[in-house]
Amino acid sequence: MSKYANIIVDISHEKLDKTFQYLVPKELEQEIELGVLVDIPFGHRTITGYVVELTDEAEFDVSRMKPIIGVKKDSVPIESQLIALAGWMRKNYGATMNQALKTVIPIKQKTKAIERKTLKLLLSKEEALHTLALFEAKHFTAKARLLRELMQEGELDYSVVTQKLHVPATTVKNLEQQRILKIEVSKEYRNPVNHLKVSGYHLTLNKMQQSVVDVITTNMDANIPRTYLLKGVTGSGKTEVYMELIAHTIEMGKQAIVLIPEIALTYQTVMRFYNRFGDRVSIMNSRLSQGERYDQYLRAKNGDIDIMIGPRSALFAPFERLGLIIIDEEHENSYKSETVPRYHARETAIERARMNQASVVLGSATPSVDSYYQARKGEYELLELTERVQEKPLPSCEVIDLREELRNGNRSILSERLQELMEDRLRKGQQTMLFLNRRGVAGFMSCRACGHVVKCPHCDVSLSQHNNGKMVCHYCGYEETVPNVCPSCGSKYISGFKAGTQKIEEMVKQRFPGARVLRMDFDTTRTKDSYEQILQAFANQEADILIGTQMIVKGHDFPNVTLVGVLAADMSLHVSDFHAAERTFQLLTQAAGRAGRGDETGDVVIQTYNPEHYAVLTAKAQDYESFYEQEIMYRQFGFYPPVWNLLLVMCTSEQEKLLEVMSEKLVSRLQSYIDTDEVLQKERIQLVGPTDAAIAKVNDVYRKIIYIKTKEYKSLVLLKDRLEDYMKDNRDFQNVSVQFDFNPMSGF
Ligand code: ADP
Ligand code: ZN
Ligand code: ZN
Repeated sequence: MSKYANIIVDISHEKLDKTFQYLVPKELEQEIELGVLVDIPFGHRTITGYVVELTDEAEFDVSRMKPIIGVKKDSVPIESQLIALAGWMRKNYGATMNQALKTVIPIKQKTKAIERKTLKLLLSKEEALHTLALFEAKHFTAKARLLRELMQEGELDYSVVTQKLHVPATTVKNLEQQRILKIEVSKEYRNPVNHLKVSGYHLTLNKMQQSVVDVITTNMDANIPRTYLLKGVTGSGKTEVYMELIAHTIEMGKQAIVLIPEIALTYQTVMRFYNRFGDRVSIMNSRLSQGERYDQYLRAKNGDIDIMIGPRSALFAPFERLGLIIIDEEHENSYKSETVPRYHARETAIERARMNQASVVLGSATPSVDSYYQARKGEYELLELTERVQEKPLPSCEVIDLREELRNGNRSILSERLQELMEDRLRKGQQTMLFLNRRGVAGFMSCRACGHVVKCPHCDVSLSQHNNGKMVCHYCGYEETVPNVCPSCGSKYISGFKAGTQKIEEMVKQRFPGARVLRMDFDTTRTKDSYEQILQAFANQEADILIGTQMIVKGHDFPNVTLVGVLAADMSLHVSDFHAAERTFQLLTQAAGRAGRGDETGDVVIQTYNPEHYAVLTAKAQDYESFYEQEIMYRQFGFYPPVWNLLLVMCTSEQEKLLEVMSEKLVSRLQSYIDTDEVLQKERIQLVGPTDAAIAKVNDVYRKIIYIKTKEYKSLVLLKDRLEDYMKDNRDFQNVSVQFDFNPMSGF
């Protein structure tokens, strides 16, 4: 049992940076744990605070340290659970307690709640008539006008009085002082979605949907919390399943959190939830103001809502009666935080659910390899929806070999076949989506003649081009110089593959002069709402062709789209990241899913330099299982997650030399921890680095990375803790900062 407790006195204020240390008295040892609310002496007062850390290290002279008075028993406020969750995140992902706390609890904003003032008449009818006569006699016209109106209405909105009746505020105040009327103030929360009518309409589930719902609700009723992986092709009715589960959760008197990637959190999606659940729903997204955000937090905390929908951060909705967490599109990268603590929403959701005995449902058409692996191991329960609702067939899919196109003299980015189909759709008045896979556009080197990509001989990931004329492997540090000709076929057409959406737009307009073209990419979606506007315009059939990056793959349903072209499927195949094939498979499958959502069946054309790559072939066949089988072998042999666990240690400094020395030191430290620990020794831990990061210098800050690989996640946590201890006592680390990323989602 730890001897000392670090306590945060008031998290609602902005003093998150300060914790105070107290003694844990013997008699309270059993009760004091992370996140409990305690009474402590503070100056001459007794105040309450949250235990955020338990430790055996005294921060100051123990003889002057005061003991905790007692543990608050009456109410367990929701914050204590979120603090415990923050503690878990801190431990498992690496961060300071304050960084973790700020992630889970929004800092109280000084923005005021919107106030609504109402005027109420305090006089009886007789008194009022008498007073009115008096005002009129004295020619107090404003007072008389207000009183007459109040007698008629009984009560009035303050803003109506001052703005419509033109009664000055001083007059209102005057009458209040004379006890003729009173002003009632009620607080109103900002509600991001206003004036909605609940239609109450909902669909009857089909057999497959119902059997999924039955499995989960039966367990819920029996109080068996589980994590489910719902694998269902696009359009198979997953969202309807979620809503049925939420309805059941609410019937049980519990609350639900629904995570949806920000990009898929469209008006359409949100409306489906509002139509069914009305006011009991709230959303969080990055477009909310801080005031709105804080209000949603309060509404959740006060129990005014039952459902919180939002991206990653909605996971921390302060529900007291959490019963269900749904993560839609669970394979999305955005569920991993890019700032410290670099938590994964999936794992964190499972931990939060565990604290509440709540259920977790992970949904996707293309589950992450991580989740499918867990399902195979029996950690998650796999449930499937194998058919589209209304038996709409999946689109047919062809793969075009771009090397062959070049051989046949077609240097356009559009293959002959794609052009042919586009022409056909224009004639029929149907729509086309052209999808440019831009992930990982920087970096890899490929040959346009033969499709060869330069890879690391040791790691089987593509080498990344650095600005010093070298190509480097990010997993082992292997380097070679950039070749002038293709090492495989001798062609000069070897280079970093580059073609932007803008260039494609020009080419499409040139090739199809009559076509109406919309483009959606980072440049055209900078302003607020432009993303929605473009999608809406396309949905309204204001354009024939929509060109875009992965942004266009999600969200809206376009019933008139019958052709999807994937312009260069390879782009994401060669990012120097072991997730490359998984990303590619997901993107291709999702892009294909956009075709033929309406009554017409659709065509999908995948253009690629790697027609024989398993990610392309299995996406064409829409065969997840077969993709997974091949991918998990690759992970197994490459010592990659989910079979192994990976800890990335990112070291940064403005001082190049110091960074070099210190990152070397960290590696030798790590090596000696491993060599002197009997358990770690047995684990075949792999230590890689330090090597330069892909971008070795950003804003004059140098970056080096170290990788640690082992099967045991907890060993990585242990090594992280050791490093933190080591760095705490070492002054040189004031100028070198170190961040941890467990099972990172992208290469560095
Ligand atoms: P997913 O989330 O798997 O992509 P959705 O839940 O969005 O699928 O369903 C796809 C479409 O089918 C939606 O338009 C939805 O309204 C409709 N749908 C879903 N379930 C049913 C059902 N049981 N009966 C009729 N239509 C349904
Ligand atoms: Zn070549
Ligand atoms: Zn390598």
